[in-house]
Amino acid sequence: MNYSRFLTAASAARKPSALRVLTAILNRAPESLISLAPGSPNPSTFPFKTATFTIEDGKTIHFGEKMMKRALQYSESAGIPELLSWLTRLQIKLHNPPTVHYPSSQGKMEICVTCGSQEGLSKVFEMLINPGDNILLSEPIYSGTIQALCPLGCNIITVASDENGIIPESLKEILSKWEPEDSKNPKKKTPKFLYTVPNGSNPTGMSLKGDRKKDIYELARKYDFLIVEDDPYYFLQINKPRVPTFLSMDVDGRVIRADSFSKILSSGLRVGFLTGPKPLIERVILHMQVSTMHTSTFTQLLISQLLHQWGEEGFLAHVDRVADFYRKQRDASLAAAEKWLSGLAEWHIPTASMFLWIKVKGISDMKQLIEEKALKKEVLFAPGNVFYIDSSAPSPYIRASFSLASPEQMDVAFQRLAQLIKEHL
Ligand code: PMP
Repeated sequence: MNYSRFLTAASAARKPSALRVLTAILNRAPESLISLAPGSPNPSTFPFKTATFTIEDGKTIHFGEKMMKRALQYSESAGIPELLSWLTRLQIKLHNPPTVHYPSSQGKMEICVTCGSQEGLSKVFEMLINPGDNILLSEPIYSGTIQALCPLGCNIITVASDENGIIPESLKEILSKWEPEDSKNPKKKTPKFLYTVPNGSNPTGMSLKGDRKKDIYELARKYDFLIVEDDPYYFLQINKPRVPTFLSMDVDGRVIRADSFSKILSSGLRVGFLTGPKPLIERVILHMQVSTMHTSTFTQLLISQLLHQWGEEGFLAHVDRVADFYRKQRDASLAAAEKWLSGLAEWHIPTASMFLWIKVKGISDMKQLIEEKALKKEVLFAPGNVFYIDSSAPSPYIRASFSLASPEQMDVAFQRLAQLIKEHL
């Protein structure tokens, strides 16, 4: 892979920050080393001394004074070493990426911890997009992605999708206006990457089928584009076994995968991680060196302690419990929708995530109805238009989140929605 052709001038120009490199060296140095090099503050002046966290099963995680000092201090930009090694083992167990043993220059698998997957994704977009570049995705799409992409001035080409995700034939058709060798000529502007939320796409809750992924990966090879696999709902898949990921089939080192702890451990701790070819992940780390510097050491340590205490088995048992919780929530929302919305609206059964994507019949613009009338009825949904690049176009869709409401509340919410629709019609 020629990674340099994907990079913006700003990303290619990034150089390691000498002081950040020192931090990484120091964190691995023996305790006997006397270093006067870093600009780190003295943590004995910090007011926090110890902490004990009680976790679900009544067990505890304890930060003694030494650990607390480390938690409150600067750390390496890529992430703290023990979390990185735990995550590396997890990725190998779950996805076994072919790139694990590749040489660095040929896209060896690398991981970096980010401040939620959102930080990782926005840095990936900034690394890859020059104004006017073509990129591929299917609508509707996570609104955070739209907000991150649009200001970069890329030309977004939308690929058709259905309840099984992106339709490979549509992608093939779009790409047929280029020749495979066009990717060697920057003037031809072949698409740089395909962005996808393969499991429980936000807002639709639908997932991309495994055999379609294979076809899409083959097209990526033929036309030499990258795949950005944004997969925060991976662990919330309802059907097992989980669908193989793009990362698992990445023989070339062209997949950048964004994982998130937001839906399974905590959204407020802000920890996610990127997995991808070293030459690209390194660029993201260089960007972090001069922006966030690193994801909070405190939250990384807390998560790392938890994961080490649980072990892989304990972690996987936990995420299965979380997936089961959302399965029950989904079923309750489907039951409420059947009861109140039959004949008024239509929807597909979500296979992951926390959303029901509802198309209301006979109303072309749900945004207006939600903004003007829903609050008066004491109910609220996300209007569908915000999940489209052109958010000014009317949309008959709404997104109903089933993550927080109780089954009784969902029942009442859909009853109120049904009244709203009937009154409007
Ligand atoms: N991608 C998608 C598809 C999401 O739905 C979200 C969160 N709603 C994110 C990324 C960002 O998640 P995080 O909290 O890990 O930044």
